[in-house]
Amino acid sequence: MRLCALSVDLDEIPNYFAIHGLPLPVGAGAHAVYDVALGRLDALSRACDVPLTLFAIGSDLSRAEAAQRLRHLADRGHEVANHTLDHRYDLTRLDRDEIGRQIVDGASAIEAATGRRPTGFRAPGYTVTDTVFDVLADLGVAYGSSVFPCPPYYLAKAAALAAIGIRGRQSRSVLDTPSMLRAPTRPYRVGRPYWTRGSGMLELPIQVTRGPRLPFFGTALTLAGPAGARFLTQLVIGEPLVNLELHGIDALDASDGFPELLGHQLDARVPHRRKLEALAAVVETLRAADYSFVRLDEAARAFA
Ligand SMILES: [Zn+2]
Repeated sequence: MRLCALSVDLDEIPNYFAIHGLPLPVGAGAHAVYDVALGRLDALSRACDVPLTLFAIGSDLSRAEAAQRLRHLADRGHEVANHTLDHRYDLTRLDRDEIGRQIVDGASAIEAATGRRPTGFRAPGYTVTDTVFDVLADLGVAYGSSVFPCPPYYLAKAAALAAIGIRGRQSRSVLDTPSMLRAPTRPYRVGRPYWTRGSGMLELPIQVTRGPRLPFFGTALTLAGPAGARFLTQLVIGEPLVNLELHGIDALDASDGFPELLGHQLDARVPHRRKLEALAAVVETLRAADYSFVRLDEAARAFA
């Protein structure tokens, strides 16, 4: 089987300010993911003829323009999946009832906006626990896609959190247990602990390369540029599912109204056209290797 799913986490711009411990932005740039990036991603999807799976944060949909844009994309055949109600980076530290509320109310907000109940789930910041999986299973969620067993990413996140702390700011981001780095890199049913195989919920891990498990996601690919992205793609060809995770910000750059991020995120400096070229290069390379492009719910059915 050679399937590829492109999913996009629609974390709105204030989430990035929260990661870096910066005062939250105001003005048009604060809604750039819904108001600008979604249109560019939809254009990419049409140009490359690939469906998208959009992981939406429920509370963002209280803004009517955001809800309308998402409904429009759902009507065009893209999947909308659940990225919780409030994108709490500390979801795993909440009690079970509050975890349940974040998941159920996120799904309800998406259903109210799009008319369709989401069947898939992704946790904020790739951070999950056995309790989160228990709640998802109780709620009948069809698949999860949160586990990111990527040592280089883990080390970079730990270093970034330490650096932010040294500068006296407080990041909202939370570091997972390093044991989860042993998780399978291909679709699996979670056991206990969740990074082992078992008979629980179907998990579709975020893609890493073979060998050193380099991150094969939007941030790395857009920073690598088209030629670098083609090279990295060679390191995932042959995987039964290439679960390529993007963020809305991968279709933006700092000129879209958030110059404050320039000094904090390398990818904010890359022009959005170059980022989209890199992503198109990935799709082209995978298609030449006989990959079919599906939504994550379709991939979940294929691997169930
Ligand atoms: Zn997110």
